[in-house]
Amino acid sequence: MKVVYTDVLVIGGGLAGLRVAIGAKRRGHDVIILSLVPAKRSHSKAAQGGMQASLGNVIKGQGDNEDVHFEDTVRGSDWGADQDVVRMFVNTAPKAVRELAAWGVPWSRIRPGDRDVIINGQKVTITEREAAAGLIAQRDFGGTKKWRTCYVSDGTGHAMITAVGDQAIASQIPVHERTEAIALVHDGGRCYGAIVRDLITGELRAYVAKATAICSGGAGRIYRVTTNAVICEGIPTAIALETGVAALGNMEAIQFHPTGIFPAGILVTEGCRGDGGLLKDVDGHRFMPDYEPEKKELASRDVVSRRMEEHIAKGKGVKSRFGDHIWLDITLLGEKHIRNNLREVYEICHYFLGVDPVKEWIPVRPAQHYTMGGVRTNYTGESPTLKGLFAAGEAACWDMHGFNRLGGNSVAETVVAGMIVGEFIADFCDRSENIVDIPTRLVQEILEAEQAKLDALVNGKGTEDASALKAQMQDIMTAKVGIFRNGPVLEQAVDELQKLLVRSRNIGLRYKGGGANPELATAYRV
Ligand SMILES: Cc1cc2nc3c(=O)[nH]c(=O)nc-3n(C[C@H](O)[C@H](O)[C@H](O)COP(=O)(O)OP(=O)(O)OC[C@H]3O[C@@H](n4cnc5c(N)ncnc54)[C@H](O)[C@@H]3O)c2cc1C
Repeated sequence: MKVVYTDVLVIGGGLAGLRVAIGAKRRGHDVIILSLVPAKRSHSKAAQGGMQASLGNVIKGQGDNEDVHFEDTVRGSDWGADQDVVRMFVNTAPKAVRELAAWGVPWSRIRPGDRDVIINGQKVTITEREAAAGLIAQRDFGGTKKWRTCYVSDGTGHAMITAVGDQAIASQIPVHERTEAIALVHDGGRCYGAIVRDLITGELRAYVAKATAICSGGAGRIYRVTTNAVICEGIPTAIALETGVAALGNMEAIQFHPTGIFPAGILVTEGCRGDGGLLKDVDGHRFMPDYEPEKKELASRDVVSRRMEEHIAKGKGVKSRFGDHIWLDITLLGEKHIRNNLREVYEICHYFLGVDPVKEWIPVRPAQHYTMGGVRTNYTGESPTLKGLFAAGEAACWDMHGFNRLGGNSVAETVVAGMIVGEFIADFCDRSENIVDIPTRLVQEILEAEQAKLDALVNGKGTEDASALKAQMQDIMTAKVGIFRNGPVLEQAVDELQKLLVRSRNIGLRYKGGGANPELATAYRV
């Protein structure tokens, strides 16, 4: 048995995992990060629109402060958020955005003087202050009273993870990439790391640590239509649940983003509507003001998504061979704006739809986007029931989003939670009672149990196809656990999912090899 010892094991190399690791390492603790992919290719890279922080730099952000951000976040959460956590978050976000600037994130900056913007479908000239020249610029996002979203064109996540990843490298934090945590090491009351599969060789290793942090992102791929990448399957969240000790929170709280391109579900950022884009129906009618006269397209995401689906249900969707959709019109923003500030949107439309968004409307429909629920933690980021287990970022239910996350509050959460939870983890490791005192024999038993499960899959005579079962699960989730839910349909979904669970115990593999065997990986994840 190969055992790797460290002070802190971070499962996930996205923005949250990297920032947690940097915090703990700066306090003198050894840290290892695990990641399915090279850390800088984590899903954080896909974040487009921006990061909320109440800097109040732009003219439309004047009067903004932590209290206004707090109110927006709590209201946006449908009053479901933990207000103590939100308070810590809004107070720290401005520091986080400045830290990122110091680390090299090339935030889009304010140019003083007049500029034309689209507000409520109309071209309006606003004048940025001379005194604000060169300060970090901010754009409008849904559900916010002020323009608060800091951005790097529409490649914000790319810029952030490049800078934070570089800091992790500078701090000499090892990233064990192409490794997958498949079980937690625990003795019932205390977590001591994870059993990890090397995705290249197939070897199992035990990582034993004082503190373990799950920072593994969302679980969007349990749905068929999602904006999330294929690696967002939520396996570490599942292995936390499998301990029978750690709890999950708010798992029913799933966010659907209004503008997934139709039918693929790839995201075009909220920045499209923030910058002035409009939603239109089959008649070319801008329908959001009919439902939401005040915020219109910039109501919070849950509201806009519901209104779009309601409008489609009234027969006002645009028919296509894939089903009904709504139009997103950003043509009014003009080519210069689209090619500069919405560059990725331009490319996504071009390559995945064959649509030129400068001249044509974009077909969109709400798609699964964000997992508000996750590993239940208290404000320190630690599981209240499994000592030594922490979580941060999208994988955590730190509970700052309640039942709806505001756009721009997620990448902000990753770095802010990373700053805060990283310190609490370091405090935990500093305490002398939190030594690693698990018997090696127990670690060996846990590893052997995991190896036995994999061997049973490889050598078994099952007849079910793991990929087919997974696709059926995704279809059930998309069709029956979507934006609108009711008791009878949810009961049907539970019934069908339970049948799939029974069938999953009879999975058989066509390829029996170890090592890089995607069929095996799909099988044990299912
Ligand atoms: C298309 C898109 C655009 C978005 N745009 C914005 C935006 O503009 N603003 C905003 O605030 N939010 C945005 N979001 C949301 C935001 O990007 C994510 O919530 C956030 O980046 C998640 O960061 P994370 O560090 O928690 O997880 P991730 O960045 O998803 O990282 C997860 C890490 O966990 C690793 N991992 C997973 N499973 C395992 C395992 N079993 N073993 C080992 N490692 C594992 C992965 O390899 C990865 O390194 C967007 C989301 C999407 C889908």
